[in-house]
Amino acid sequence: MALRTPVITGNWKMNTDIESGLELARGILEGSDAASGVEKIVCPPFVALAAVSELLRGSSIQVGAQNVSANENGAFTGEISATMLSGLAAYVIVGHSERRALYSETSGDVAAKTAVAVSAGLKPILCVGEALEIRQAGNAGAFVADQLESSLAGYSAWDSLIVAYEPVWAIGTGEAATTEQAQEMTSVCRGVIRKLAADAADSVRVLYGGSVNSGNIAELLEQPDIDGALVGGASLKADEFSKLIVAAGSA
Ligand code: PEP
Repeated sequence: MALRTPVITGNWKMNTDIESGLELARGILEGSDAASGVEKIVCPPFVALAAVSELLRGSSIQVGAQNVSANENGAFTGEISATMLSGLAAYVIVGHSERRALYSETSGDVAAKTAVAVSAGLKPILCVGEALEIRQAGNAGAFVADQLESSLAGYSAWDSLIVAYEPVWAIGTGEAATTEQAQEMTSVCRGVIRKLAADAADSVRVLYGGSVNSGNIAELLEQPDIDGALVGGASLKADEFSKLIVAAGSA
């Protein structure tokens, strides 16, 4: 089996401005720079992306964007294209559940965004996850498998892909999935990748996201199909996020 380096990604969502984003990035760099054996990514809001990217250039922390337009350029007021991002970010989050739920993004939209991101040289962090009603109805596995397969329609850049399984009911609630649930569903995601591209299945990183913190990351990383975490709330505190990264590096 391919050795997969764990990756910890912080999604700052609609938090921080340029100054506070720089302060947070400096704090995370200071607190986690010495941690090895773990890839580190922060995803600031667009307004802070250039400044944070400049600050972290050449450091141990890489930068990602939180969203990208599915269109290449043109009359799309308020949108940000993949080529605009390509000098500022190495990664881009696509299909986060907040975008799917609040901005009606479909898996078709996610597939289009993923394609445009890859053609501009960005690496997608593709999010999938079920709502509570779907889990309670016993359909989590089938739902997530279908969501991931549809979001990967036409995809071929397997070396660039990171998948994040994020159950909607665990995001921002303080109630993380159990390690068993997280393992079961990341394994479902890996099964989809195996079906689409058998050779890539052992090398694509699959993350868990949903109320991850410095106290639960080590146990999550012990699971065979969990290769890191996508972190919201805990990535906004430099000390806590640094502790989480350090814990992941030594897990
Ligand atoms: C997220 O928004 O991707 C997330 C996982 O948030 P939190 O860590 O706050 O649950």
